[in-house]
Amino acid sequence: MTTGYLYHELFGWHDPGNQAGLFPPDPRRGVQPLRHFENADTKRRIHELVVVSGLIDELVRIPARPATQEEIRRVHHREHVARIRAESERPSGGDAGDGISPFGSGGFEIAALAAGAVLAAVEAVCDGRVDNAYALVRPPGHHALPANGMGFCLFNNVAIAVRHAQKVLGVRRVAVLDWDVHHGNGTQAVFYSDPDVLTISIHQDNVFPVDSGGLDERGAGPGLGYALNVPLPPGTGDGGYRYAMETVCLPAIRRFRPELILVACGFDAGAMDPLGRQMVTSDGFRELTALTLQAAAEVCDGRVVLAHEGGYNPAFVPFCGLAVLETLCGAKTVDDPFLPLVAAMAGQELQPAQREAIDRAAQALADIETR
Ligand SMILES: [Zn+2]
Repeated sequence: MTTGYLYHELFGWHDPGNQAGLFPPDPRRGVQPLRHFENADTKRRIHELVVVSGLIDELVRIPARPATQEEIRRVHHREHVARIRAESERPSGGDAGDGISPFGSGGFEIAALAAGAVLAAVEAVCDGRVDNAYALVRPPGHHALPANGMGFCLFNNVAIAVRHAQKVLGVRRVAVLDWDVHHGNGTQAVFYSDPDVLTISIHQDNVFPVDSGGLDERGAGPGLGYALNVPLPPGTGDGGYRYAMETVCLPAIRRFRPELILVACGFDAGAMDPLGRQMVTSDGFRELTALTLQAAAEVCDGRVVLAHEGGYNPAFVPFCGLAVLETLCGAKTVDDPFLPLVAAMAGQELQPAQREAIDRAAQALADIETR
């Protein structure tokens, strides 16, 4: 298996400032300066582990290029793109749109490069240069709506790549599988009425955005049935995620038979994440990837592109990223030192409440026309 890999040092230069997690420092309110949750650490450390472990030698480096404004506007309103661009010109930078997603001067260029990296990954997979690909991008994208950014996301990298595949690369049906711990609300919104794009989001029930990603969100008009949500109870581990894949995601992909699968790959469902309360291990992410590859081999010649989303524990996430990349290319390098600890945590196996939640989500499968 040949695996394309995209990373650019500029992704580490996206600057969300010195927030205390989410909030700007303000001594009058008792908020001390610190670091924004979405800082460069997890991403930069994945890349450095990929290099130091030697895995880089098994991957095909693909250069990132900036997405053009025309490409970004296939998903986003002209006003949103213009506003991000204008704020990016200011020395103080701006905010994606919800007040918790700041970016520094030049943030537009970095966000355009992140979107363009996912485009380049999709191009490489669609023209057969590589079998699959991982775009380790920052800022993330899956919360960004057509008219506004949110949740640390400026532009919806995955949605822009889907539209590019359709408009330029001759692909029609695309499945987007989002296993970030938060709901892939932006991607879902872009394709809500589109029966050619199946969006599947496995997420922790009602975390971010609140009141988003429930079972009742199933698409609209001709797209009814092509938005699929699997909200999971907090505390779901490898067993629950495996059951969700086997019971909902993979059957949905097999019914839909996409020509390309994009994965919004967050690692914040990981067992040590500060922004999620799930328990997935590096072996769990390894398995999610292997199952996705299996389904892709059946329906779309293995064409899978993963785009990096969230994941906020800088010590743990690199080993989860390494596990995913190893699975994509079929290599094995260093062991995850966290694995014995987190795999032994009580509740890793499927729990009754998780089974019920997943079985409920599976009822929506009938709305996907079998091809
Ligand atoms: Zn997330």
